[in-house]
Amino acid sequence: MRRNTFVFAIAFVVLGMCMPLPSSAGDLDAGETTHLIFMREEEKLARDVYLTLATLYPDEPSFSTIAEGSEQTHTDTVRDMLEKYGIPDPNPDANILPDSIGVFTGADYGWYFTEKYGALVERGTIGVLDALHVGAFIEELDMLDIVGCPKVIVETDNGIGEGQCGLEYTDESELQTMYTHLLDGSKDHLRAYVKNIETIIGEGNYVAQVLTQEQVDDILGR
Ligand code: ZN
Ligand code: ZN
Repeated sequence: MRRNTFVFAIAFVVLGMCMPLPSSAGDLDAGETTHLIFMREEEKLARDVYLTLATLYPDEPSFSTIAEGSEQTHTDTVRDMLEKYGIPDPNPDANILPDSIGVFTGADYGWYFTEKYGALVERGTIGVLDALHVGAFIEELDMLDIVGCPKVIVETDNGIGEGQCGLEYTDESELQTMYTHLLDGSKDHLRAYVKNIETIIGEGNYVAQVLTQEQVDDILGR
């Protein structure tokens, strides 16, 4: 009997090592933690690009409306969630404006957002139509990165593989609620940018940039 108990105990320990227990509040796994840190700066990227485009195109109010009315709140919401779980904020000076615009300090992905910011702003300087396409691009990318595990996270040697982070992955109800809220915001913003784009290129002519055309048409109600 004692031997059986011992074997059972060993089996339980081995099983425990192979199958991590589902995370509970205050206990995020590596995929959830990395994704949350990432989304803090991805929402900041949206805010920063829109603030910059707003100064380039003062006659196009959607940039400042979306930056100040939504993306600021989104990046703050992710910051608050990091704090709740005791995870250090990758960008503590994010709200020092305008100095913080385009500054990404995250240890793992700051370089990635710095590059993205530069490339998106450069495209946005071409003209207002390109700037609006940059807005729509960011919203499509946001949705992809909220739902699934962002490509750059999967490609980094961090043990987090495809499907191992994002809204589809997490079992934390607080994260699920927050990401669903961010997703709804992105859908609204995509609809707003596409509306303005199609004022220029004609209704029904917007072409999906990151998501599939079917996904975009679904969001646009087509
Ligand atoms: Zn957002
Ligand atoms: Zn947005």
